[in-house]
Amino acid sequence: MSKSPVKIMDTTFRDAHQSLHATRMKLEDIVPIAEKMDQVGFHSLEVWGGATFDSCLRFLREDPWERLRTIRSLVKNTKLQMLLRGQNLVGYRHYADDVVEKFVEKTIENGIDILRIFDALNDLRNMEKSIQATRKYGGTVEAAFCYTIGPIYTIDYFVELAKKLRDMGAHIICIKDMAGLLDPYTAYELVARLKSEIDLPIHLHTHDTAGLAVATTIKAIEAGVDIVDTAISTMAGGTSQPPLETVCHILKDTERDPKFNMELLDEIADYFYEVRKKYKALESEYLGPDPKVIVYQVPGGMLSNLVNQLREQNALHRIKEVMEEIPRVREDFGFPPLVTPSSQIVGTQATLNVLTGERYKMVTTETKNYFKGLYGKPPVAVNEEVRKKILGEEEFITCRPADLLEPELEKAKAEIKDKAPTEEDLLSYTLFPKVYLEYLEAKEKGIKEEIVPVKKEEVKPSTSLAPTEFVINLYGESYHVKVGGKGHKVDGKRPYFLYVNNQLVEVIVEPLQEIVPSEEGKVEIKPKESVRPRASEPGDITSPMPGTVVKIKVKKGDKISAGDTVVIVEAMKMENEIHAPIDGTVDEIFVKEGDMVNPDEVMIRVK
Ligand code: MN
Repeated sequence: MSKSPVKIMDTTFRDAHQSLHATRMKLEDIVPIAEKMDQVGFHSLEVWGGATFDSCLRFLREDPWERLRTIRSLVKNTKLQMLLRGQNLVGYRHYADDVVEKFVEKTIENGIDILRIFDALNDLRNMEKSIQATRKYGGTVEAAFCYTIGPIYTIDYFVELAKKLRDMGAHIICIKDMAGLLDPYTAYELVARLKSEIDLPIHLHTHDTAGLAVATTIKAIEAGVDIVDTAISTMAGGTSQPPLETVCHILKDTERDPKFNMELLDEIADYFYEVRKKYKALESEYLGPDPKVIVYQVPGGMLSNLVNQLREQNALHRIKEVMEEIPRVREDFGFPPLVTPSSQIVGTQATLNVLTGERYKMVTTETKNYFKGLYGKPPVAVNEEVRKKILGEEEFITCRPADLLEPELEKAKAEIKDKAPTEEDLLSYTLFPKVYLEYLEAKEKGIKEEIVPVKKEEVKPSTSLAPTEFVINLYGESYHVKVGGKGHKVDGKRPYFLYVNNQLVEVIVEPLQEIVPSEEGKVEIKPKESVRPRASEPGDITSPMPGTVVKIKVKKGDKISAGDTVVIVEAMKMENEIHAPIDGTVDEIFVKEGDMVNPDEVMIRVK
């Protein structure tokens, strides 16, 4: 057993704000404290990867590469670490091998020392390329397995996975408990086994979602874990990591005491106490422990996503049915760990199964791709009956998904030309083409600020134009509504953050055509009249839930058969294929791409 001081990775600059504040910490809040963080004596600082890359471009309008170089220039002694989603890199799909290699090369060149690499399905083939590339360019490979619970997940299972990661060239093995499901005694047993059977440093990553993280971290340290993740106390707890100072106090004067300068930690904690206030509008109202994640075995983020999805669908009262459907869907899917993107896919599919009243009657494109094998190999075989229902006669693959991908960089270069002057820019474009273009446009226009939280004391009733707090009475129910802040406009739509009965909701405001100015500068907003008929005939195609039409796959006059995909509707952030109910001819199309639709409106009429 290790008797040396435990090493600590600080997550404040990455996972802490990803978990607490939807990955919105700006570089300007990192710069003033980075040199102090460098003096603490951390094993590493996690500063990049995960959702930060996407969030920098999409929301903060920052160049993620510039962020990395800036932090590198300030942090001279401590290693910098990032989270890499295997073949998905920092995105949400599999990229071709040439993109993976170039991304890893540039990541290391711009200042990252250690790459924590994982795959959402623990399909090790999806980690091969990034592990090889990291070794090739002189980086440290921290290979992670996703920890989860379920009938197949025993200690032996994870020890075997870790041995395979060692054989693939890992320098460090990471237990990635992304949902905070690992309990203290299991952690002790798991770490003890890994330490006795694998001759590599073991690194524990966990979340405090269920309130277990401090205990789990301490038991892992007792069992000899080499490195643990914490965040500075004022950015810790809840869905974030366990608090650093608490762990230090517990270990004080023991052989594993990291012996950090507590006064320095205090200064850093004070700094983030102030910073955190700026992001309050993004924070969940309830920050305490949520042991439900253990009961339902789903990550906290997934739970709040589900609640939002159901609320959007006016079906919050069915949450219990959905929660009961999730384990069944997960079993059909071959027990994937629930982490981005599988958590979203399973959660949405379970919701569809409940709301449509028939399991897999309607499936998302992502569910279909999952059963086609495009995400990789599930931990155990999927339910074949379900696969047949979803794919019919369509083929599925069993090879490494990226083996089917053509090189992408040359093609991207030809598309973007001099709008991506550096190799780093080209990678940003290749990973997020649409977002990169929006980022360029925002940069040109000088748009920077995203959230402007409204502090109550700043609203002076005499001068303010409109109240920021209301009670709305609707059908006998009262709702307390408070304006939290606003975001910046994208494509003419502006997001507002509202608290409805103390629950934060994001509202996208689109310009309505029917805003009618009347006397004294007042405006009247008339609801748009629906131009679509109500469904009444067997050939009327409707959406089972409110959503947006993304693609219409038929034209007026087309001959179609029952079961053909006629339209794709995006609902709950997933694309859903809508099929023809009968054989016939497309008689009329009442929607165009981009239209919002409601469940009982006819989108397409088949005769
Ligand atoms: Mn995490």
